[in-house]
Amino acid sequence: MRNDEDDDSPAHCGTGKTRLYVDAPMAAGGDVQLDKDQSHYLVNVLRMGQGEHVLIFNGHDGEWAAEIAEASKKAALLRVIERTRAHQPLPDIWLLFAPVKRARLDFIAQKATEMGAAMIQPVITRRTIVSRVKDQRLQANVVEAAEQCGLVALPEVREAEKLDALLDRWSEREGPRRILFCDEAAEPGGSKVALERLAAEGGKGKPYALLIGPEGGFDAEERARLHARKDTVAISLGPRILRADTAAIAALAAVQMILGDW
Ligand code: SAM
Repeated sequence: MRNDEDDDSPAHCGTGKTRLYVDAPMAAGGDVQLDKDQSHYLVNVLRMGQGEHVLIFNGHDGEWAAEIAEASKKAALLRVIERTRAHQPLPDIWLLFAPVKRARLDFIAQKATEMGAAMIQPVITRRTIVSRVKDQRLQANVVEAAEQCGLVALPEVREAEKLDALLDRWSEREGPRRILFCDEAAEPGGSKVALERLAAEGGKGKPYALLIGPEGGFDAEERARLHARKDTVAISLGPRILRADTAAIAALAAVQMILGDW
């Protein structure tokens, strides 16, 4: 999905070096063949050529320096030189969110990646309007954000799932992972206490899943079901109703601050 027209900032962060996610093994002296899209980006958009260096990562082996060995427009070839950074796992915080319209969906994927979410998944609630989500587009946004903000790990992107079905299987599938349910009806001011209580109970670094509702909010049955669960904590994001994409970012910030790696 790399779109050269509106992409004015090459995928590099801070190092000044171009960073690319490549789904390939990394080893010094090894070769990595870039796909057509990445080759076009490197050779035609960034006008890079043979002998120039880039940084690459595959999401689990850390970050590596690589040299452009062949700079063909269709299939550039990289030669892996050395590892520049070890793998840094993401804090075990997931973002489950009711999908919103495309541009804001891109925004949620990009910002959740920058903020260190380890998995993002659209959940279809009863008042969800947007039911079709292109996983590839979500994945492309996640990859581009990871390239741009210096991540060496890549958040997992899961297919959209109905909230009811997800909750039916939660305990057996996700075991101890707690659901932090962003509830606009929750008492403002209570979240800090609730999150700090989790931290005080040794909850820092433990697995969590943030849940963000649709623009229309959760319906009464969904809300009652979430409140009845022992593995679910309702949190308020303050006295004002936030749009879903803002709520996702605000919630990630609050949780990273108290239970994550901030
Ligand atoms: N239609 C709902 C209403 O008017 O009450 C607002 C839904 S809001 C736009 C979308 C989602 O963002 C909510 O379901 C909730 O998960 C989250 N959210 C927004 N503001 C929040 C707040 N102040 N506290 C907790 N969650 C919030």
